[in-house]
Amino acid sequence: MEQLKQRILEDGVVKPGNVLKVDSFLNHQIDIVFLNEVGAEFARRFADTSVNKILTIEASGIGIAAITALHFGNAPVVFAKKSKTLNLDGDLYHARVESFTHKTVNDVVVSKKFLSPDDHVLVIDDFLANGCALQGLIEIIRQAGATLVGCGIVIEKGFQHGGDHLREQGIRVESLAIIESMSNDTLTFRN
Ligand code: 5GP
Repeated sequence: MEQLKQRILEDGVVKPGNVLKVDSFLNHQIDIVFLNEVGAEFARRFADTSVNKILTIEASGIGIAAITALHFGNAPVVFAKKSKTLNLDGDLYHARVESFTHKTVNDVVVSKKFLSPDDHVLVIDDFLANGCALQGLIEIIRQAGATLVGCGIVIEKGFQHGGDHLREQGIRVESLAIIESMSNDTLTFRN
């Protein structure tokens, strides 16, 4: 997605630890008109599928998934919570996910009420690095007996290979920009 690549080149800041900050439009301040284009692009790429639910993980995935859902006929958005909270009742699906940015391990949970074998699920997230977050969400879909349609990612860091491993497992991963390499002064995309 050309518009996204331009935005990354203009506003992205490379931080130590191979972290790309895109706080000005995606992860802190959010450009909603731009996010709407992102949602439309996911809908174009998955137009041949029958998505009836969108799954993401808190926090940064939620806004992206919410706007994307409007392009999939208002499909409900479910977000995995990073810790058990008292207001989650009943049985839970859960998976262990190591956070790329915080280096902590979270037990991520989804209420069994919101995912079932009838669901055709599109997973949405902001970044794909080593693939831990997506693997956790895919594990939750597996526990629910639901169908994984594919994964829609805004920015994949190709040099961290999580996406390559998922594709090798036969999982459809559509990333709107794939970064091949990045440093303080250069950033290149995979074609
Ligand atoms: P993974 O689990 O694939 O290693 O990392 C993906 C998760 O870590 C995403 O949910 C995202 O929130 C976060 N993440 C990974 N790399 C980056 C990055 O370079 N910048 C930002 N802002 N978040 C990242």
